[in-house]
Amino acid sequence: MSAMILEKLSSAVGVSGNEDAVREVILKLIKGHVDDVTLDSMGNVITYKAAHTTRGQSSTQAGLRIMLAAHMDEVGLMVTGYTSDGGIKFRYIGGMDDRLMPGLRVQIGKDRTPGVIGLKAIHNTKHNEREKAVPVESLVIDVGASSKSEAETLAPLGTYGTFLAEYRRLGNLLSGKAFDDRVGCAVLVELLQQKAYPVDVFGVFTVQEEVGLRGAGIAAYRVNPTHAFVLEGTIADDLPKKKDESPTTQLGKGPALSVLDRSVIADRRLVDHLIATADKHDIPYQFKQPGIGGTDAGAIHLVREGVPTAPISVPCRYIHGPVAVLDPRDYRNTVRLTELALRELHQMEALESASG
Ligand SMILES: [Zn+2]
Repeated sequence: MSAMILEKLSSAVGVSGNEDAVREVILKLIKGHVDDVTLDSMGNVITYKAAHTTRGQSSTQAGLRIMLAAHMDEVGLMVTGYTSDGGIKFRYIGGMDDRLMPGLRVQIGKDRTPGVIGLKAIHNTKHNEREKAVPVESLVIDVGASSKSEAETLAPLGTYGTFLAEYRRLGNLLSGKAFDDRVGCAVLVELLQQKAYPVDVFGVFTVQEEVGLRGAGIAAYRVNPTHAFVLEGTIADDLPKKKDESPTTQLGKGPALSVLDRSVIADRRLVDHLIATADKHDIPYQFKQPGIGGTDAGAIHLVREGVPTAPISVPCRYIHGPVAVLDPRDYRNTVRLTELALRELHQMEALESASG
């Protein structure tokens, strides 16, 4: 079941620029399911699954090259210095929140050295200190070292770190680390494990999304797709419920389609095709509130002569925090919707104009 795929991907550590462990997991999961795998100079994994005629399909859709992208990297930390008493100073890689840090468990480096982000006991804090977040520059990670040199040996400068969180069931929901975007990676792995599609499919696992969509652009340049879908984990802010305010997305309401975010205006023809596919097969879907966040679509749609691109996202609560929460039904429906949209791409209206 998919839960195993998501668990493996969620537990792997791969902060932006250091995606090796995630890449290894992915290469194992897709082995034998794709016709070609290329690793490019930045570390993007570019897979190719050739078009194949299936039952009820008279011919393949020649000339269509569909890129499906999910980013391997997660937000995290990097070691930047030490205190004389063995504390480790660090900075963020990707968008993180100072308020979350004190008291958190982290894991540092290849050996996953455990650490705790230091926290001043409440007994010692003054009232006004409790009202503001401690800036990251003033935080240190405690790995149990008692001197600068001991800390330096355990975690040399530039060592990556991330949160330490277990993959768990929460009632009918799932919780774990780095669902942004290991959930997209898991959806993409499942799509590649299916039988061939009537269109050429390029499944791309990208690097360095969280630091500015850096891997996806060069991957799209190489693939030269006619269309692209970006598979993401996106913000669900449905808990606690806010009166009279529409949440960005909600858990359990199906895959989230984007119309516009800070990185892209989704291709309307692709969005309409996703809606038509969902309606036809009774798959729930929702729209992500416009104007919020960005994805690899922001880089992909601007490559070469332009690529019609649309994001499809699994709603996740608490993304960019230590633990995110998702509804496995949204996950399943995202796999289904994307799969059917690919199998029925020939039914897309305005395919001619969209493919040039
Ligand atoms: Zn993401």
